[in-house]
Amino acid sequence: DLGSDVEIDAEIDEEIAEEHLLGGLQIDSTDDIEVPDRLVDQVIGQEHARDVVMKAAKQRRHVMMIGSPGTGKSMLAKAMSELLPKEELQDVLVYHNPDDGNNPKVRTVPSGKGEQIVDAHKEEARKRNQMRSFLMWIIIAVVLGYSLLVVSNILLGILAAGIIYLAFRYGSRGSDSMIPNLLVNNADEKSAPFEDATGAHAGALLGDVRHDPFQSGGMETPSHDRVEAGAIHKANKGVLFVDEINTLDIRSQQKLMTAIQEGEFSITGQSERSSGAMVQTEPVPTDFIMIAAGNLDAMENMHPALRSRIKGYGYEVYMDDTIEDTPEMRRKYARFVAQEVAKDGRLPAFSEEAIEEVILTARRRAGRKGHLTLELRNLGGLVRVSGDIARGEDAERVTRDHVLQAKGRSRSIEQQLADDYIERRKDYELQVADGYQVGRVNGLAVMGEDSGIMLPVMAEVTPSQGPGQVIATGQLQEMAEEAVQNVSAIIKKFSDEDITEKDIHIQFVQTGQQGVDGDSASITVATAVISALENVGVDQNLAMTGSLSVRGDVLPVGGVTHKIEAAAKSGCDTVIIPKANEQDVMIEDEYKEMVEIIPVEHISEVLDIALEGEPEKDSLVDRLKSITGSALEKTGEG
Ligand code: ADP
Repeated sequence: DLGSDVEIDAEIDEEIAEEHLLGGLQIDSTDDIEVPDRLVDQVIGQEHARDVVMKAAKQRRHVMMIGSPGTGKSMLAKAMSELLPKEELQDVLVYHNPDDGNNPKVRTVPSGKGEQIVDAHKEEARKRNQMRSFLMWIIIAVVLGYSLLVVSNILLGILAAGIIYLAFRYGSRGSDSMIPNLLVNNADEKSAPFEDATGAHAGALLGDVRHDPFQSGGMETPSHDRVEAGAIHKANKGVLFVDEINTLDIRSQQKLMTAIQEGEFSITGQSERSSGAMVQTEPVPTDFIMIAAGNLDAMENMHPALRSRIKGYGYEVYMDDTIEDTPEMRRKYARFVAQEVAKDGRLPAFSEEAIEEVILTARRRAGRKGHLTLELRNLGGLVRVSGDIARGEDAERVTRDHVLQAKGRSRSIEQQLADDYIERRKDYELQVADGYQVGRVNGLAVMGEDSGIMLPVMAEVTPSQGPGQVIATGQLQEMAEEAVQNVSAIIKKFSDEDITEKDIHIQFVQTGQQGVDGDSASITVATAVISALENVGVDQNLAMTGSLSVRGDVLPVGGVTHKIEAAAKSGCDTVIIPKANEQDVMIEDEYKEMVEIIPVEHISEVLDIALEGEPEKDSLVDRLKSITGSALEKTGEG
C-alpha cells in the first residue's frame, strides 16, 4: 500500500527492460501513463522519508526533514495532510466579549458548522435591524404627526425626527458586534489543511489583530472582528510546513514551540504600538503536525529546544539526492514526466524520445555512476520549459529536440553566470594562454550546484624576513593556508629550498564569486607552489582538480563533470582529475572530443603531466616519486 509499490499500468517488455531507457515501458507518449491520484503515490524515490511520513501521519508525530532543495520535502508534507482524517476538522469562531471587549471569546465547532452559525447570527441581526427600523419609522411618524397637529411646529418635528434617526443608527452598530468572526473555515476543504509557513513573518505565522484607526467614539470595528488567524491556527488538525526553519526569528521559534506544547495559542496584535496589541483572544487551537525542513546548516542554527522537541516527539529524516538507476526507477521517471505535464495542465504530451532525453538528463545530473538525480524540482523545470517551447511552436507533442533546446534555456542562474563569466574572461584574454608559465595553474571549482568554472591560481615565493608566511587574497586565506600546509610536508621532503623561511603568496585570479571549495583546489595550489619554488613552467593548456593528502595521494572531489565541462569551454585540452572520480565523469558528448581526461593517483603524476619537460622537472619528479613508496607502487600498477 506504499506509494513505492504503485506500478505503472502500461505494457512492459521485460526482455529489453534492463538496457531500455524507459525500463521496457512500451508507450507512444505520456498520454499512455496514468498518474496516481494521491500525492503520496506520486513521490519518486525517498522511500525512507515517505515511510516515515506515513507512519507519522498515523501517530500524529512531528517530522524534521533534512535535504537538498527540490527533492520533495514540501510535496511529502502536503501528501501527509491528504492522509490525515478529514472528519476531525474544526471551524473556529471569535465572539465579542461583553465583559471585556479586548478579550474576545473563542469557540470551536465541527467543520461546516461555523458558516451556519455566522449565517444564523446575520439573519438574526437582519431581523433585529428590520424591527428596529420599523419601530424607528413608527416613532418618527408619531413625532412628526404630533408636532404638526398638536404643537403646529414642523421644524421642531423634523429636528426631533433627525435625532431619533441618528440615535437608532448609532444604536444599531452595537448589534453588528453580535456576529462572530469566522476565523478558521474548513467547510469546503477536501483534506486536512496544509499550511506552508516558510518565510512567514510573525503575524502570518502566529495570527494578528488589525489596527483600528477609530479606536473610540462608536466608530470602531469591534476587536473580535479584527482578529486574523495565523498559519499555526489554520493548520489545526493538519500539517504546518516550515522550510528553512533556521531563518525564522528566535522569538517566533519560541512561540511556535509553545503552540506545539500547549496545542493552543492566543492571538494578539503583533505590532506593539498598534491598537491591536491591546487585544488578546482566548486560546485558539493549534493541534497541528509540524514538518520542519532545511539543509544540514538549518538544523544547526535552529532553536535547540524546538529541535529537541521535534526530535523527542517525532522523527528526523534525510532526503536522498540520487537514487539507483534501475528499470523500475526509470519507469517511475517516465511517470514523473507525465505527472509534471498533468500538473501544469497546458503542456502537450511528451513523445517517447522526449521522455528518454529527460531520463538521460536525470542520469547526468546525478553526478554519480548508476544513479538518477532526485532534485526533481529542477527536472520538472526542464519538463515545463520543453513543453513551453513545443507549445510556442503549436506542436502536438514535445519532441527530443524541444527538450534539447530547453536544456540550453533552463540553465540555472549559476550556470548562466559561469558561462557569462567565461565569455567575459575570453574577452580579456584571461583565459588559457598557450605554452608554459611559472607559478600559474588552471584550477577548477564548482559554482552553485551544477556548474563549473576555471579558476587560475598564481603562486609566488619570496624570501621572508621572519618565519615564512602564507599570504592569500581575501577570504581564501584559510583555504590557502590549509592547502600549503598539506603540501609543505611533501615539499620539505624533496626540495632543497626550505619553505619555512619563505613567504608564499597565493592569488586566486579573478575570484569574487563564492562557492570555491578549498579542498578540491589543493593539488592546484601544490602545483603552483612547487612550480614557483623550483622555477619550472606549468602547462597552461591544462586544468586540474583534486584534493591532496599529506602523503601526496590525490583524493576525490565533487562536481568533476561540471569542472571538466568548464575546462573544455575555457579552451583547455587536458584535464587532470583524481582517479577515484573516474566513474563520476558524465560529460556531454560535445565535450568529449574537446578534452583529454587524465585520472591520477599521486601528486608526482600531476607534476609529470603539468610541469615543463626540462631536466629540472625530471629530477624534481624523480625526487618526488622517491618520497612515498606506496603511492608509487600504485602508480606503477595503474
Ligand atoms: P522541496 O520542498 O524539497 O524544496 P518540493 O517538494 O517543493 O521540494 O518539490 C518541488 C516540485 O518538484 C514538486 O512539486 C514536484 O513536482 C517535484 N518533486 C520534487 N521531489 C519529488 C519527488 N521525490 N517525486 C516526485 N516529484 C518531486
